[in-house]
Amino acid sequence: MRLLDERVYGDVKRLKVIRPFDPWGSPLCTCPLKYSLHPYTGCSHFCLYCYATSYIGRKPSTPKRDFLKRLREDLRHVNPRLTIELSTSSDPYPPLEAWMGLTRMALKLLAERGLRVLITTKSDLVVRDIDVLKATPSAVMITITTLDDNLASKLEPGAPSPSRRLRAVEKLSEAGVPVGVRVDPILPGLNDDPQMIKQLVEAVASAGARHIVTSTLKLRPDIYRRLRDAFPELEPVYRRLYYSEGEVIQGYRYLPRPIREKILEPVIDYALEKGLTASVCREGLGPRFLRGPTCDGSHLIPVRASR
Ligand code: SF4
Repeated sequence: MRLLDERVYGDVKRLKVIRPFDPWGSPLCTCPLKYSLHPYTGCSHFCLYCYATSYIGRKPSTPKRDFLKRLREDLRHVNPRLTIELSTSSDPYPPLEAWMGLTRMALKLLAERGLRVLITTKSDLVVRDIDVLKATPSAVMITITTLDDNLASKLEPGAPSPSRRLRAVEKLSEAGVPVGVRVDPILPGLNDDPQMIKQLVEAVASAGARHIVTSTLKLRPDIYRRLRDAFPELEPVYRRLYYSEGEVIQGYRYLPRPIREKILEPVIDYALEKGLTASVCREGLGPRFLRGPTCDGSHLIPVRASR
């Protein structure tokens, strides 16, 4: 963590479940300073491309021990000016959240203090919490990597279908909760067709999304193995693009830069054409690809609660 950040993040040593956001030390991260908060460890969405599995393994969502108690303690030590993001390396709305309500209870604690909240999820369950989200300055980023339900069921087998997520974007927007979409990650040969991307951007813009975050797949060995098993026909392509021609940045295999630019340019351009802000995530491609006040959608969070 950068030295200056120690002062910005408040009494970091006393924090137990709220953590300064530091995406595995990536020098390419352009996010504003913020906290991350994970009510659950593991993730029952089981996305093939999940980055978190390299660090914590592939396991279903499990509530964190004494989570609410530790959160209440943490809230005495956080910097109230910083956004708290739920969540950056697990989903705050796995299926068990529907009956467990841990994320909802956490949101209520944050809302009581008027803290800034950024939700990142693949689940339409988030619409259940519109009332709490409206009680504190907040915005929601919903990940939709494709409109193809069939492809999504292979890539993100435990997550709600893209059509349900699109409807969630609509409901949040109609309710006055600012919402954006993460078209993230884009995987060569699977969801990188520019025509499909155009339709996706048009659909989320019509549904009320105001910002798009996008990125190309970064490979780790376990991600490569899962994709190879699910899509064996892509193995030679991935081997060439990532292992022969790609580059390694901070332990991740990236596609060659010209290919990343070619894949991501249309996403940014279509978004801007539709009047949305747009940005890439951890790509290091320069200002042409950072076309919003923030990359992560934090700028959608209003100054005050919307009710
Ligand atoms: S929703 Fe996010 S954290 Fe969960 S498996 Fe998918 S990529 Fe990983």
